[in-house]
Amino acid sequence: MTLKEIAQFRKDLLKWFKTYQRKLPWRDTKNPYHIWVSEVMLQQTQVKKVLEYYQKFVDKFPTLWHLAEADLQDVLKIWEGLGYYARARNLHKAAKLVTGEMDGKVPSDYQQFRKLSGVGDYIAAAVQSIAFDSAYAAVDGNVKRVFARLFLIDSPINQSASLKIFQEKADLLLDSHAPGHFNQAMMELGATVCHPKSPTCIVCPVQTFCRAFHTARQEKFPVRVKAKPTPEYHLAVGVVYRNDNILITQRKPDGLLGGLWEFPGGKIDEGETAEAACVRWMQEGVNLSVEIIEFLTRVRHAYTHFKIVVDVFRCDYQSGEVVLNGPVDYRWICVDEIDQYPFPRANHKFIPLLKKIE
Ligand code: SF4
Repeated sequence: MTLKEIAQFRKDLLKWFKTYQRKLPWRDTKNPYHIWVSEVMLQQTQVKKVLEYYQKFVDKFPTLWHLAEADLQDVLKIWEGLGYYARARNLHKAAKLVTGEMDGKVPSDYQQFRKLSGVGDYIAAAVQSIAFDSAYAAVDGNVKRVFARLFLIDSPINQSASLKIFQEKADLLLDSHAPGHFNQAMMELGATVCHPKSPTCIVCPVQTFCRAFHTARQEKFPVRVKAKPTPEYHLAVGVVYRNDNILITQRKPDGLLGGLWEFPGGKIDEGETAEAACVRWMQEGVNLSVEIIEFLTRVRHAYTHFKIVVDVFRCDYQSGEVVLNGPVDYRWICVDEIDQYPFPRANHKFIPLLKKIE
């Protein structure tokens, strides 16, 4: 593109954004912390889902101080169901650092902000440009798709080695006089017009500049490397009853679903029955002997890189005292208390059933 074309591209894009952008709560604020929260939530998650969580989160933790002082369990409880819990843990950790060492002010310096927990190139560029009008181009999946089509970029968008190519295009086109609006406009274009399938080119403000459109190759771009087949794991989980209480355990603070609560259990070995695996896991994971009373249900859940099939059993406590091997904490709770704890979505698929058991 020539300099003249770049200038026209920016003008057309920003004009369109001004008129057609969706009204979203995080666009009504210049509060850097709120913008940061929204961008963290939007990473990996659809706007529709984030809308259910954003307001709840900023109402509960209106400032970084509130977030920093909150118990991580309360933060995870609000985040429950949004997935990718490391995002919540990192945000909490960063809030503690910013309040402890930076007077509670979100750093307006890109490098300083980039060093905080959970802040990668995308979050840093998005927050710094939207909150502080700093000229950093933010490149997310939507933006990559738009660029792939605009410039017929055939580097796979799902390979990290390609990021540099997309970032260069974004840096080139970024409007340094309105970087926040420009970044949001690009993301909005990808989300609402330049759809993965059947982009609505007819209403696209930058159609004139789009090589894919002019060569009728929108469907051929972006290019992706084929993902490996998703593995599926079969798990057995026990809901252990002791008198009127049930046992829940807490996962270690980091890693997948870190800090969340769940029912003890684990993978079924080859040739092992689900019942036997359940009894074995109670021994190995929490040192309890249990008797299986009944099969409760089977639930399925898909994570990004694998799927699980979970057989859930109702068990009666027989003997032993809890000794944790894997989990970091445990509680014997009555079913009514279950909503006080953050659980993974897979567990929520059978929790309603437990509430019906007399
Ligand atoms: Fe996407 Fe079509 Fe616009 Fe090109 S013209 S950027 S393919 S919506």
